[in-house]
Amino acid sequence: MHKSDRSLWEMRRIWLVGFLLLPFLLAFAAWIGFQHAKEQALQQAGERLNLYASSFEGAINKYDYLPWMIAQTPDVRRLLDHPDSSLTDDINSFLADTRNTSLADEVYLMDEQGLTLASSNFQHPDSFVGNNYRFRPYFTEAIRSGRGSFFAIGTTTGLPGYFLSERVTSESGEQAGVAVVKVDLEPLQADWQLAAEKVFVSDNNSIIVLSSHPQWKYRYIDVLSEEQLDAIRRNRQFDTVELKPLGVQHNNHFKVMPETDGETAGYLNQTLDLSPSGWSIHYLVPVLPLYQFALLVAGLVLILYILCLTGVLWMRERSRRAQAALKAEQRLRALNDSLEDQVKERTSELQRIQRELVQSEKLAALGIMAAGLSHELNQPLTAVRTYAASGRKLLTRALYQQVDTALDKIMTLTSRMSDITSQLKVFVRQAPALSQPVDWSARIDFVLEMLEHRIQQQQVSLHADYPPQALVRADDARIEQILVNLLSNALDAVSSTPDPQVKISLQENNQGWLLQVEDNGPGFASEQIKHLFEPFYSTKNVGQGMGLGLFICYGLVQDLDGHIRAESPPEGGARFEVWLPFSEQKARAA
Ligand code: ADP
Repeated sequence: MHKSDRSLWEMRRIWLVGFLLLPFLLAFAAWIGFQHAKEQALQQAGERLNLYASSFEGAINKYDYLPWMIAQTPDVRRLLDHPDSSLTDDINSFLADTRNTSLADEVYLMDEQGLTLASSNFQHPDSFVGNNYRFRPYFTEAIRSGRGSFFAIGTTTGLPGYFLSERVTSESGEQAGVAVVKVDLEPLQADWQLAAEKVFVSDNNSIIVLSSHPQWKYRYIDVLSEEQLDAIRRNRQFDTVELKPLGVQHNNHFKVMPETDGETAGYLNQTLDLSPSGWSIHYLVPVLPLYQFALLVAGLVLILYILCLTGVLWMRERSRRAQAALKAEQRLRALNDSLEDQVKERTSELQRIQRELVQSEKLAALGIMAAGLSHELNQPLTAVRTYAASGRKLLTRALYQQVDTALDKIMTLTSRMSDITSQLKVFVRQAPALSQPVDWSARIDFVLEMLEHRIQQQQVSLHADYPPQALVRADDARIEQILVNLLSNALDAVSSTPDPQVKISLQENNQGWLLQVEDNGPGFASEQIKHLFEPFYSTKNVGQGMGLGLFICYGLVQDLDGHIRAESPPEGGARFEVWLPFSEQKARAA
């Protein structure tokens, strides 16, 4: 498979796996979110429930002492013995005062038949005085066991309340009665409504007697048996209020409660038992916000998931690109290396060819030179032969003086021939493979010393400007040969100049040393320059120049990897420049 196809396939695979996993991940996130929110809400509900339960119980318990206290009051007990006496007014006032002080709803006293003898609301049109409440369980219980309690809707006032009762024994001990305190629990509901919380209290018949939601009040949660309904009817607990089922449905984990006639809402139910036995208080946690929170968590996880997935893909793409770039770079480097190798190979090949070319050029030049030499040497040889022949004749005639002159001439001619051949010795030598570092400055010193006699004789003013040391890659013989040729030519050139001057200088230039030899002689025409370095090119008189000096210099400089050039500056005279590369030593230091 092609590489790019494979990475495309891998990317698709990541997306596919990602999308297959997504529903599970989201469901799990929603579940976690729901559980967390539920835990928090239930914890909060538990705390609230405890608070409401204790406030509910506190509201009842704080009146617990009151019926007993009334039952102990001597005048109250006396009244039971003398119900129609003037004592009734006093007790009515006493009960009214007690109610006002204790903030109970109502306080009243019943005789043994359940007839109300005195009441705190004796002045009120709805006064309990004269009413009989013997049907109420709080009455029968108190008569039977001494104490009683009961929740009911008042048959006289129509207002709900919690009744606490205590049996009263008359002073004579012959009569009995019941002291009752009615506690109003309605203010508790008002508190719950204010807190906008769903709280209700159900009694031992699971009828809701208090609720923050008005619609649920006096509705029963569990179905009531005939027996229960009968008892309720008998003791007229809910008076004329019609009891209806709440219509609560139980979903898996929560209750679905009717909100209005048509609407319902789901709640988690927290319950706590209350001290009137069989009673319980309920705190409802709406489930809708829990679902909303779960959805929010799932949404966040979805966003995170998409971000992560995109991040993973992005990282993969980036590393893929980086790898591709690395590979391209490696390929490029390898290519570069091979190119460099090729260049090195070609360069050494070229250098070899160049060396061979120089050598073959030299050989070709040798041919030309051989012709020139035979021409140059032929003349002195003919002259030597002529002088030798005439010398022999002069000897036979015993003309020794003239013989000596002829021998002198022969010597002069042979020394000239030796000059020619000695020049060629250097030229035919092959350049050494790697030259030694040579101090060019020291070689200039040496050559100037050699030529000192001639310089003085010609009264040439010499300007020398070179550093104490200038190392180049060369060998002594070649360097001296170049210097001798250039300086001799300069001295020749200024031989008939009125104020002869020769200048020699050495300076660093482009990884090497540059030698300049200048003179104020006649110089040369531009036409001449291109012939200067040709063999046997000479403008000097026969016997003075052979035209080999510059040709040899050119060959030597080539051998040393340098270059030579000649120019005639505008101010006159001639200037020769020779550049040679630094020795290895100097190059390394640089
Ligand atoms: P030779 O000196 O034997 O003639 P060279 O090769 O040394 O041979 O010089 C070739 C020719 O270059 C000289 O004959 C001369 O014409 C010219 N030449 C060389 N150096 C100078 C110079 N410094 N000034 C003028 N002409 C020069």
